[in-house]
Amino acid sequence: MLPLVALVGRPNVGKSTLFNALTRTRDALVHDQPGVTRDRHYGVCRLDEARPFALVDTGGIADGGVHLVTGDLAGATARQARAGADEADLVLFVVDGREGPSSVDDEILAWLRKSDKPVFLVVNKTDGLDSRAALAEFARYGFRDILAVSSAHRQGLDDLVDEIHERLPEQGATEVPDNDPDRIRIAFVGRPNVGKSTLVNRILGEERMIASDVAGTTRDSISADLERDGRLYRLVDTAGIRRKSRVDEAVETFSIIKTLESIEHCQVAVVMIDAREGVTDQDASVLGAVLDAGRALVIAVNKWDGLDTYQREQVEALLSRKLAFVPWAEAVRISALHGSGLRELFRAIHRAHASATRSFSTAEVTRAVEIAAEASPPPVVRGHAAKLRFAHPGGESPPTIIVHGTRLRTLSDSYKRYLENFFRKRFKLVGTPVRFVFKEGE
Ligand code: GDP
Ligand code: GDP
Repeated sequence: MLPLVALVGRPNVGKSTLFNALTRTRDALVHDQPGVTRDRHYGVCRLDEARPFALVDTGGIADGGVHLVTGDLAGATARQARAGADEADLVLFVVDGREGPSSVDDEILAWLRKSDKPVFLVVNKTDGLDSRAALAEFARYGFRDILAVSSAHRQGLDDLVDEIHERLPEQGATEVPDNDPDRIRIAFVGRPNVGKSTLVNRILGEERMIASDVAGTTRDSISADLERDGRLYRLVDTAGIRRKSRVDEAVETFSIIKTLESIEHCQVAVVMIDAREGVTDQDASVLGAVLDAGRALVIAVNKWDGLDTYQREQVEALLSRKLAFVPWAEAVRISALHGSGLRELFRAIHRAHASATRSFSTAEVTRAVEIAAEASPPPVVRGHAAKLRFAHPGGESPPTIIVHGTRLRTLSDSYKRYLENFFRKRFKLVGTPVRFVFKEGE
């Protein structure tokens, strides 16, 4: 599953800066996602693409950036930190290398020691400092696991990620093989009460029962295999399945980490939205997580039943406004309760999957870049314009195009978006992000 790393530390040591530095996607990505208010509390670090891990900033960014500047560990922030640390596989205890140890640090450390979590000490803000001296200041804490970084200047982050990996539980080895090429892996995600469980039960029940529940060997990952209209699917670790298979389980709380995990393991994410509630901030952050993961996306607008014409028009207007940042994603109106719209939903899933896994030749992507650049040349910046020389495919899910050229750093986000849209149109791609990686040089 997706391991979880918690950032713990007093206010102002740079936790959110570190969080952003670790979760920021490495290459210049096309999405700057206007309109997404995201819950920055949880994110996924992909600096090592083969081994993503989830990160939680326990520092209370979610409550509007207001920190309790207090040593009182009974406060709300402390409770949050404690909760974050409790569910984590590893705690990064972040301290300020400029200020040195403080009494609040001492207190935090004291309660960290009471838990049996592995703790790694990160001395931040060591830019411009003698990092050995900075580390020595914290020697009395007695950590062997300690590293100096500068989050703001991205120094030491690769080493930090290596150190993190060494301390995380082994991934993958004991898991159920999840890569049956003939099965499309789908995750139904969304906030509580949008109807995930109703939909999953409807889909599984309707098809007169799935082959089997595929029980995971780690944590409580549960998938279900499904055959529908002659095609094979695997519903990956989805709240609804879990609830069905464990009838006695109390109502599940919205687990962001579980949501991130499901997204990580799927090929197509179906983000469910409640037509009666519109698109909430939480919906937008789930959508943002799908974009960050580069997964194919279908939006299921649920509870479409029982709305009158006027209400439907209102919902439509709202959706087109709120979903404008993912114009390429298909939004399908469904009623999980009545089972309507499911055929269309599965068609959309197929279109998204086909687009996400389409293969490209070097010739066709180079040609597309040429045509795009001819139709709208990169803008001149300080007397020079970027030159796009050639391109080649760099992988699928999402389709990745590697563009070589010169002065590529000057390409604006809007030009990158233009390229992405151009590709989408030319190759008739729907329901998938398209990723461009720009490489300087001939
Ligand atoms: P948090 O309260 O722990 O989340 O801390 P923030 O991430 O909000 O950072 C607090 C302040 O420290 C901000 O003004 C940051 O710009 C600054 N800061 C964070 N990381 C570094 C760093 O590596 N070096 C320096 N010099 N400043 C940093
Ligand atoms: P989950 O928390 O996302 O798994 O949501 P549930 O499947 O538990 O559904 C939450 C509530 O919404 C339940 O009372 C369902 O009966 C109701 N619900 C789910 N789908 C629909 C639908 O398509 N139409 C209507 N009217 N209600 C629905």
